[in-house]
Amino acid sequence: MNGPESMYKASQRPEAEAQRRTLERLESVCRSRGRRVTRQRRAVLRALLAQGGALTAYELLERLRVEDGHSTPAGVYRALEFWMAAGAVHRLQSTRSFILCEHPEAPHPGQLLICRECGQVVETQDKGVASAAHRLGERLGFVFDRHLVELTGVCGPCRARGRAAEAECRHA
Ligand SMILES: [Zn+2]
Ligand SMILES: [Zn+2]
Repeated sequence: MNGPESMYKASQRPEAEAQRRTLERLESVCRSRGRRVTRQRRAVLRALLAQGGALTAYELLERLRVEDGHSTPAGVYRALEFWMAAGAVHRLQSTRSFILCEHPEAPHPGQLLICRECGQVVETQDKGVASAAHRLGERLGFVFDRHLVELTGVCGPCRARGRAAEAECRHA
């Protein structure tokens, strides 16, 4: 069935609904700080949200250009800088990419677990890791200006796929 009814249902998918709510929340945090959400800024947020993971500035630009041929690299960078300052986007140093942060209400230390196979990024806020880093800094006389720890490896589903492929090779 491809009528208007199925289209209506598609727009009511739980994940579409959750995405819409996340977008609204991020935008309202931004507005509450007296910042304006422009079309370009919203488009960057939406692209990251739809991706559900990290994107480089170039990948973002490609996606934005599908909808708006006038998008420029400088415009994308300005929008990213804006959202980073608002706390809604984190920059991943190790992969030079950007990811949405779903709790931009306050600055927070966190850990970003990055899968180098599928690119999935999981943000966690383990207090134990954060306080261990703080103690380490105190012990060695460091004051950190960035509190996001990036940990790279292979995620559970990718490891499971790897094991399955290995087993297949052995049986071939
Ligand atoms: Zn965050
Ligand atoms: Zn993975």
